[in-house]
Amino acid sequence: MGAKRRFPELSESGLIWVIVAFVSLIVLNLITLAMGRSQVLAVLNAHPAGALISPFVFDSWGTIGGLGGIVLLFAPVLFGTPVSQRRALSFFFIAASIGIGEFAVVLWDAFYDTTGLFGSGSSAIAITGQGVIFALSIFGLLRLAGQDTRRLGPLSSHWWYSFAIIYSTLILTSLWFVLSLEPIFIPTLLYNWRVHEFGFLFGAAATVGYMCSRWRALGLDGVIRIDEMLMNFHFDDLCVRFPRRLPKYHVLFRGVEDARGAEFHPERGEIWVSGEFKDREYRIDGPEFERALLHAMVHAELFLEGRPWEHGRPESRQPFNEIAPKVGTPPEP
Ligand SMILES: [Zn+2]
Repeated sequence: MGAKRRFPELSESGLIWVIVAFVSLIVLNLITLAMGRSQVLAVLNAHPAGALISPFVFDSWGTIGGLGGIVLLFAPVLFGTPVSQRRALSFFFIAASIGIGEFAVVLWDAFYDTTGLFGSGSSAIAITGQGVIFALSIFGLLRLAGQDTRRLGPLSSHWWYSFAIIYSTLILTSLWFVLSLEPIFIPTLLYNWRVHEFGFLFGAAATVGYMCSRWRALGLDGVIRIDEMLMNFHFDDLCVRFPRRLPKYHVLFRGVEDARGAEFHPERGEIWVSGEFKDREYRIDGPEFERALLHAMVHAELFLEGRPWEHGRPESRQPFNEIAPKVGTPPEP
């Protein structure tokens, strides 16, 4: 519960489960290393189902690094995804990386293995993950091309360019990795080079299928929708209109009294925007949403100046003024 409150993004985005899954893989690798990998492989080779478990057996420190690195590369892609889609994407990422990595290993064992022995190593899982991230980054650029949020304001523009740089970097480093650093498309004497090829290509292909199946929800139709990411970026855009900078209040959807409004909640450091605006088209509902958000921000500014109820309905002043001195920044002298 403590972690949930302190790191809501980590929990709600499902990133915590990606971390759990890949750390578990690393732990399994280390356990088999401690047990002696040749002994473990000998046991696995005695069973027909051993091929399914062999990808969890240690093969090299490079693979361990790859498993950790893949989580770091996935995180920025995840946070560029619309908020409502993040959790599902995290679970797709785990399922695709491990499932297709396993599939690549089993496929190789069935048709390409000339040694008659199962190989080891989670590298197929890591490279499948890389294939998924590579494809996700291409779709990320497509989304940015369709959803040009640069005109919303300076901070939205900043984030648009930041994600364009992040996606381009991920695409280029993935290509550099599979074409040059660990050239997976060039046959080698390494017993299982083709496993990596399968993993990368199938991982990317599965991602294409996933993205196409959720085209609209993932914002790939080019429509800008009001979600929590847009609201929080736009909060920063609107901040430049105030004479002094407001602290960073977390903007989120909640049920509020006015169905087309927003409320300032100093006791939580939050601004609540009516759930009515959720996933509405910015082109249509944007002006009204912006008015509601600005209204809540005006309340925040008045609150910070120590004049919490310079405007508003008298009957609602009482509870607000009671909490006002207890929380937030005290009025300046
Ligand atoms: Zn008001």
